Amino acid sequence: MFETLSDRLTSVFSSLRSKGRLSDADIDATTREIRIALLEADVALPVVKAFVAQVKERARGAEVSQALNPAQQVVKIVNDELIEILGGETRRIRLAKTPPTVIMLAGLQGAGKTTLAGKLAKWLREQGHAPMLVAADLQRPNAVTQLQVVGERAEVAVYAPEPGNGVGDPIEVARRSIDEARRLQHDIVIIDTAGRLGIDQEMMQQAADIRDAVRPDEVLFVVDAMIGQDAVTTAQAFMDGVGFDGVVLTKLDGDARGGAALSVRHITGRPIMFASTGEKLEDFDAFHPDRMASRILD
Ligand code: GDP
Repeated sequence: MFETLSDRLTSVFSSLRSKGRLSDADIDATTREIRIALLEADVALPVVKAFVAQVKERARGAEVSQALNPAQQVVKIVNDELIEILGGETRRIRLAKTPPTVIMLAGLQGAGKTTLAGKLAKWLREQGHAPMLVAADLQRPNAVTQLQVVGERAEVAVYAPEPGNGVGDPIEVARRSIDEARRLQHDIVIIDTAGRLGIDQEMMQQAADIRDAVRPDEVLFVVDAMIGQDAVTTAQAFMDGVGFDGVVLTKLDGDARGGAALSVRHITGRPIMFASTGEKLEDFDAFHPDRMASRILD
C-alpha cells in the first residue's frame, strides 16, 4: 500500500535536494505537490487541507539547521505530521477494572468483522488473556457458524445462541454472554454484531441497543480500507448512529492508496487501533502511526 503516495513524495523531496535554503516560493511549490499527492491517494479533502496547512506553517517557521539540509527538514516535518494525522501514539485496549472487558465490533457487512474477531481473540490469547467470542450477528446466514470456525482456528471459546435460548435476539445473546464469561472466567468478551451492505437505520439501532445492553468498554468500528473515501462516510454514519472508541482498518493489503488510513482519525477524532492485512489470522497487528509514517516515506 501507499506505493503511489510514497513515490510521489519521494520525487517532491528529491527536487528539494539541491536547494541551499527554502524560499517561500519553494515551500509553496512543495506543499502544492504534497497536496496533489494526498488527493491522488484518496485522502479526504478536509484532511488534506489541514495537513498541508500544518506542513506549510512549520516549513516557514523552520530554523536554518546545521544538521539537516532543506530536503531533510521537509521530510522530517512531513513525517511528524503524518504520525500526528495517523493518531500519534499507539492506542491500546483499555481493560475494565473488573473483568470481563467488553469489546464490541461494529461495521458494514463484508468489512471483515468476523475475521477480525478471530484475529483479535488470538492476538489477545497470545498475550495471556482468555477471550471469548460472542456471535451476536444473527442476521447473516452462516455468520454464527463462521464465527465458530474462526474461534476454533484461533483456539478461543465462542458463545453462540442455542435453539430455544434467546435465538433471534442478538441483544439477549450479548447480555447473556457477559454472565457466561464471568462464570467461565473469561477476562475479555468480543462481540461480533450484524452489518448490512449499506448504512441502514435498523442495523444501526440494533448495534446501539446491544451497546446499551452490555455497556462495552470499547466499541471498535471495523472498516474496509479498500472502500477509500466511502470509509469516511461510513465512519461518520457509525459515529452518529452507534458511536465508537477506536477504528480497525481491514484489508490494508489491498488498499494501494491509503486514503482511508490517512483520513479516518482526523475526521472521526477516534484512533486507529488495529490493522488487518490479509485473510489469515496472523495478518493482524496493533496500529503504529510512526511505523506507518515511515512506510509512506520509505
Ligand atoms: P464481516 O461480514 O464484516 O463479518 O466480514 P468477514 O469477516 O466475513 O470478511 C469478509 C471477507 O473479507 C472475507 O472473505 C474475508 O476473508 C476477507 N477479509 C477480512 N479481512 C481481510 C483482510 O485484512 N485482507 C483481505 N485481503 N481480506 C480480508
